[in-house]
Amino acid sequence: MSVTLDLSRAQKAAAPPAPVNLTGLTRAQLQAALVEAGVVAPDKARMRSNQVWRWMHVYGVTDFDRMTDVAKDVRAAMADRFVLNRPQIVERQESRDGTTKWLVRYAPGIEAETVFIPDVARSGALCVSSQVGCTLNCTFCHTGTQALVRNLTAAEIAAQVQVARDDLGEWPTSPDNRRLTNIVFMGMGEPLYNLDNVADALDIVSDNEGMSISRRRTTVSTSGVVPQLKALGERTGAMLAISLHATNDALRDELVPLNRKYPIAELMAGIRQYPGLSNAKRVTFEYVMLKGINDSPAEARALVRLLAGIPAKINLIPFNPWPGSPYECSDWGTIERFAAIVNKAGYASPIRTPRGRDILAACGQLKSESEKLRASARRQLEGGQVPEQAPE
Ligand code: SAH
Ligand code: SF4
Repeated sequence: MSVTLDLSRAQKAAAPPAPVNLTGLTRAQLQAALVEAGVVAPDKARMRSNQVWRWMHVYGVTDFDRMTDVAKDVRAAMADRFVLNRPQIVERQESRDGTTKWLVRYAPGIEAETVFIPDVARSGALCVSSQVGCTLNCTFCHTGTQALVRNLTAAEIAAQVQVARDDLGEWPTSPDNRRLTNIVFMGMGEPLYNLDNVADALDIVSDNEGMSISRRRTTVSTSGVVPQLKALGERTGAMLAISLHATNDALRDELVPLNRKYPIAELMAGIRQYPGLSNAKRVTFEYVMLKGINDSPAEARALVRLLAGIPAKINLIPFNPWPGSPYECSDWGTIERFAAIVNKAGYASPIRTPRGRDILAACGQLKSESEKLRASARRQLEGGQVPEQAPE
């Protein structure tokens, strides 16, 4: 007996897959994609992909026709099969202190924030997001009040650097005179819960024949996902920052609930194993100053004791309030007393000046309106339809 399947309904329901955006691929993926699509012959793949790579990541082009040293028929074939899109910028805000925040929309309901902070380190740092929302619920963090919507892909993470450079007018890439020199993963989300994509994104943005943002100028901040620390160091060579915020387990359990899974002793042991740790490659310990919670001189001394023997920097972060936040920032005098103790122990300029507070762009203030949609509603939105139900 023969059976004929009626595929007409299934075909109607499934939207065609979106064309691949070449700007978000690693070098190896780019080469493979061009060969697989039949755009270039395998023996020309390396040369061609190097050309395309340069146009995308040195010149920032988003139009195949500007790739003037690539044969016309190859450009046309690429334009048929691929795109060079940037995500949409839904909102752009500039703070009084020059900090700029972009709300980037990747797809309907998938939005994350990126912040450029001028004049830190030698030049400027871009604070990127690794997830939309976060699964962790640190009690002082605005992002923590937003459920995880999803991980960002490597392309979506790299795109944050690309849109910032579009806006700053920093194409073609130049080693001197650029403002965006550093990257910090201190935006939305826990980067070590999305390590594969974070690592691929760093491969894209750090490439010497591309955006060329040094791994030594890239910092990944984690709330302490201990089992991933070693892999982070091995795969990315990035600088490590640890969101410590408390020196004893009882308090850290409360502030950073992940501590219940990986308590302080385990965390410190994991940090000591971080690949390449040295005085030239120190770990940054972030410590948010919460009034009456973790800001006493005794805690400053405990902090110094805890870090003994680890090549470390300390970053005291004045708490940045957000609507409905349950804490207050420590008084300035208290922060200075705390800083003086860690200073005396040899940690220079430990207080981080809050930047972009007026536009909710400072540490821990980021949150997008993206809510976790039911999968069915998201599929409808991605198909361009109005969802049947409101977000959960
Ligand atoms: N999830 C990662 C990275 C993003 S948070 C992490 O937790 O490390 C970036 C930094 O901002 C962390 O050190 C975090 O603890 C800090 N932070 C969060 N909320 C804050 C707030 N309201 N004020 C000041 N710093 C905050
Ligand atoms: Fe997530 Fe980091 Fe915020 Fe904690 S501080 S909720 S880990 S983004």
